[in-house]
Amino acid sequence: MEDLVSLCKRRGFIFQSSEIYGGLQGVYDYGPLGVELKNNLKDAWWSSMIYENDNIEGLDSSILTNPSVLKFSGHESTFTDPMVDCRECKSRWRADTLDSDKCPGCGSTDLTDPRPFNLMFKTSIGPVDDGSNFGYLRPETAQQIFINFKNVLDSTNKSIPFGIAQIGKAFRNEITPRNFIFRVREFEQMELEFFVKPGTDEDWHQKWLDKRLGWWEEQGVNKDKLTIYNVPKEELAHYSKATFDIMYEFPHGSEELEGIANRTDFDLGSHSKNQSEFDISAKVEKNNESNSKLAVHDLEEKKWFIPYVIEPSAGVDRGFLAILNEAYNVEDLGEGKERTLLKLKPHLAPIKAAVIPLKKNNDELVVLSKKIKNELQSLNLGRILFENTGNIGKSYRRHDEIGTPICITVDFDSLEKGTVTIRHRDSMKQELVNIDELVNFVKNFYA
Ligand code: ATP
Repeated sequence: MEDLVSLCKRRGFIFQSSEIYGGLQGVYDYGPLGVELKNNLKDAWWSSMIYENDNIEGLDSSILTNPSVLKFSGHESTFTDPMVDCRECKSRWRADTLDSDKCPGCGSTDLTDPRPFNLMFKTSIGPVDDGSNFGYLRPETAQQIFINFKNVLDSTNKSIPFGIAQIGKAFRNEITPRNFIFRVREFEQMELEFFVKPGTDEDWHQKWLDKRLGWWEEQGVNKDKLTIYNVPKEELAHYSKATFDIMYEFPHGSEELEGIANRTDFDLGSHSKNQSEFDISAKVEKNNESNSKLAVHDLEEKKWFIPYVIEPSAGVDRGFLAILNEAYNVEDLGEGKERTLLKLKPHLAPIKAAVIPLKKNNDELVVLSKKIKNELQSLNLGRILFENTGNIGKSYRRHDEIGTPICITVDFDSLEKGTVTIRHRDSMKQELVNIDELVNFVKNFYA
């Protein structure tokens, strides 16, 4: 983990948030390369969900949430972790993560009994801060999907089975954030709520588990490092009938990368509370309760029903860490030399190709390199970097370390014979390619 943290800082993937003021615990900023890798990961998820499935729609909902949503979802009363206080050093710990009955801070055994600690962040809304006008920062993106269920259904003419997918920030006031970006207080989730007919839910649960495992492998996660934890009944969240956790062998141990829950009709049912008839046009205005009936009409059986929900919910930050951990390699080059490289899948690489003139500030080489960069950039594959360092060896090493799959060197033969050298990150092999064929070469490389 230390090697990853140091690479992230050194090369601009991840920084401690508010670092110059001593940091903010459990909060990180993604730097120039981090934001590219993170966006690529989110794009890959978005494509696999929305572009590859005509029965899944996207959503980008608000972070600030009406407290009623989180009251009826059960989060106000149950979204807690057990917390203990050390009476000796006054530190606080999550009780279910302690290895012994001793305080990990000072070793004292004088700990309080565990008590529930609600993980939601509350904030006041509007100019009057009298405690009555407040909202929550959403602790998961899912609830906004449920409360938009009818909006999406009505505006897209979808029928069951169908899904709504969303990527966005979630906030949890974790008692002990730890392990770099694994457990943080501000993070991003990639969540799909897939609505199915009750009775078909168990099949869909298994299908989504298989699909999601396949997807992680496509992102370069070794399947030998993934295991499935079939969450026992006594550990299930309040909404879940069954949950498969996809566990990954992180540097600090095997922990959850993604949870795939069968949420039954719990959420849509809760947000439809207090209506006796399944009449979705009915409105009730009572005690801030939902005014909508989140049900669908079964045309064959001519009755209303509340769909069941299968929810694959993945953490962007945990995915980022897993992918970085998989890609990180230190290769022995012999004679006491080694090179660090990130063997990222090309579609995830922050920089798709670096165009490097052999000689720094040589006008002809620079003009041609910039022309090549612009041509390749217009393919819209991601970032193509023009790098005028004049030190090819150093550039190759830097690009190995940040995972750039190919470097394109422009030299004097490029001017005379119209060729460039492509240098491959993983094999270090070099090949000559005609500039006329470069666009096709790069297109095919990323196809
Ligand atoms: P854990 O048991 O590790 O706290 P969870 O079961 O509470 O996780 P879920 O509510 O299922 O997590 O959230 C779905 C996904 O969101 C998780 O699989 C994880 O990838 C991500 N996630 C949850 N909490 C955090 C956090 N504090 N920091 C980073 N990612 C998180």
